[in-house]
Amino acid sequence: GASIEVIELRKRFGSTVALDGMSFTVAPGKVTGFVGPNGAGKSTTIRAILGLDAPDAGRALIGGAAYRRLRHPLRHVGALVDDAALQPGRTGRNHLLWIARSQKIEAGRVDAVLEQVGLTSAGRRKAGGYSLGMRQRLGIGAALLGDPAVVILDEPFNGMDPEGIIWMRGLLRTLAQEKRSVLVSSHLMGELQGTADHVVVVGRGRVLADASIDDLVARV
Ligand code: ADP
Ligand code: ADP
Repeated sequence: GASIEVIELRKRFGSTVALDGMSFTVAPGKVTGFVGPNGAGKSTTIRAILGLDAPDAGRALIGGAAYRRLRHPLRHVGALVDDAALQPGRTGRNHLLWIARSQKIEAGRVDAVLEQVGLTSAGRRKAGGYSLGMRQRLGIGAALLGDPAVVILDEPFNGMDPEGIIWMRGLLRTLAQEKRSVLVSSHLMGELQGTADHVVVVGRGRVLADASIDDLVARV
């Protein structure tokens, strides 16, 4: 498996310091939680890992290489970020077929992934009628299409109902058992309790703690 290495990332937006020496590692076979309040720098870090936004300094590597150097990125890295370009008039299944085609992923993966995210029948309906939870499931499906060694999910619990949260937790454990490297952000530690092997706690653009949730709870 490929790990993610985040090394001393720094990033400012005008006078706002978004990342102030962010460093941590995400190892294969583990669910790494990425937890901190809104504004702590989680999304900026994830965007840097995915090559969507260049940091001012530092590096983010996937299996030792920068994301932008991966030839078929979705086969290495699956990500849920909140800018999924869903077209309301297109079915969820066609959305995935379109991504598969653009990434040279075999079309047969689409139905397997729809089943994995619980959208086998809903995938045949137009995405315009999807709830936020269903859009999240579809985005996660897109992330898993290329059978990636690295899975990065930014706030996947957002908009999920209780059943969706339970499903999401099971999926995270399955992905880790499959020896993938899994990074999952949340602004609520409780969402990751019993699911994350360890949690990178961040605030003001840097790591405050990196430990299991049990160890973090025992410290207070
Ligand atoms: P989180 O994901 O933990 O909520 P972000 O990475 O989104 O945190 O934001 C970190 C800081 O950077 C915040 O102060 C946020 O307002 C700022 N920030 C993030 N993106 C931008 C942007 N595109 N322009 C200006 N400020 C930004
Ligand atoms: P383009 O072909 O225009 O460069 P992309 O290939 O970047 O577009 O994205 C195509 C679709 O895949 C978009 O819906 C986008 O949200 C989604 N996507 C982009 N990157 C990822 C990723 N790492 N994992 C899953 N889906 C992604």
